[in-house]
Amino acid sequence: MQKLRPHLGHHRPRSRPWISLGVAVAALSACAPPRTTEPPVDAVVLVVVDTLRADALGAYGAPGDVTPTLDALALEGTLFERCLATSSWTWPSTASLLTGKLPPEHGLIGKDGSAISPDVPSVASAFQEAGWATAAFVANPIMDAELGFGRGFDVWEGSDDTWDSASVPLERAEAWLAAREEGEPFFLYVHLVEPHSPYRPSEASVAALALPPLPTAEDLGAVTRAYDLMIKGEPYDESAIEDFGEWRRRCYAAEVRDADIAIAGLLETLRGRRSMERTLLAITSDHGEEFLEHGLMGHGGQLYPESVHVPLIITGPGVPRGLRASERVENRLVGATLLGLAGLQRPAGLAVANLTDATERTLRTEEPSLLHLGSGGWIEGNDYLIPLEQQGLVAGNSVTIRARLESGDRAATHRAFDSTTSTSPAEPAVIEQVSSSFSRLRRPTSSTPLSAELERKLRGLGYNLGRKDR
Ligand SMILES: [Zn+2]
Repeated sequence: MQKLRPHLGHHRPRSRPWISLGVAVAALSACAPPRTTEPPVDAVVLVVVDTLRADALGAYGAPGDVTPTLDALALEGTLFERCLATSSWTWPSTASLLTGKLPPEHGLIGKDGSAISPDVPSVASAFQEAGWATAAFVANPIMDAELGFGRGFDVWEGSDDTWDSASVPLERAEAWLAAREEGEPFFLYVHLVEPHSPYRPSEASVAALALPPLPTAEDLGAVTRAYDLMIKGEPYDESAIEDFGEWRRRCYAAEVRDADIAIAGLLETLRGRRSMERTLLAITSDHGEEFLEHGLMGHGGQLYPESVHVPLIITGPGVPRGLRASERVENRLVGATLLGLAGLQRPAGLAVANLTDATERTLRTEEPSLLHLGSGGWIEGNDYLIPLEQQGLVAGNSVTIRARLESGDRAATHRAFDSTTSTSPAEPAVIEQVSSSFSRLRRPTSSTPLSAELERKLRGLGYNLGRKDR
């Protein structure tokens, strides 16, 4: 088995030396319509905070006062305590958010060089076809419109080759909002990359969280060597790794604080321009982040809760206020939920869903949720293995992950939605359930290969995700 460094690396120009690590439920036939006493919705805002694990927010139990904006927002609407992303890195999970489909269904799994299948529905297209203005301002440079992310957006402004700070997409969003006519309905999507590594927290957040001095290039070189040795199963300096993991965790918290401050700015802009009584707002993430809970750092390697348990907060007309929903939900259904609350038709193929409806949540949580990775890494003892695919099934409070390897399958079961990190061998019947659940998924009937130009851009960012034969 070939051993590689885990996770999807990337590099962004910066002033300091740094390293980067890391990168079905059946559709219900009906759902509750928006309350007739509510004012009609004429604005829908979706904010994705890249790499934000649920327990990084105060409202989900994080210590300190790191996310006062998001914590206060949760009191104005519904907070979903147990929300899952479909995968543990940006491409497959964000494509799920924008299409409602699981990664094997929408096709952007980052392995065979295919974009989101043109056959799958797009949440943004549904708003666009209803006559709403649509715009996306995205700070993550690997989210190229060519991959299908831009479908349905009148305006798509991404990042060419840098991991933009939040001020870039937010200033663009503010200019776009300023150009909207009074009463013109719109769907706005903003994607921030704080707290995605490499970390560059603001001085204010470094001071607020009393971060120790940032590591020197020499320090970072030492921990990188230790981490590589660890992945190779060779003797390494454990204390260097643990110290580095702790340092990363604290830098991460500082960047979460920066994201919260950025969202406060966006809310101020929205509130200054319009009545929030007619605005639906959803905030979530595409995936979480690992800090050695299961042997790795970063994301995109595994499917444990620290990578897929994400926050979800929805506010606005028709959304219960001050509610903490405890049922398990999947954030790929947020788009369909927002369309329904806005009173718009869902296009054929897009799930009908309303995550704000308690009865529907109860029905959905009785069904398993599925997770997926095109490859990633699998730690077994001292071995780091590269699976052909990882399939996850969440039922009740258990997660079973099946890693398909050239040398045969591995599978393990562990707990979802808590900090338990222990795993146990999976029961054969559950492994069979995982396998059969994925074999029943409808795969795309057509695919769009990535252009050579996009592959060059991705390689420049440290991602080698195109077709392997080119
Ligand atoms: Zn991401």
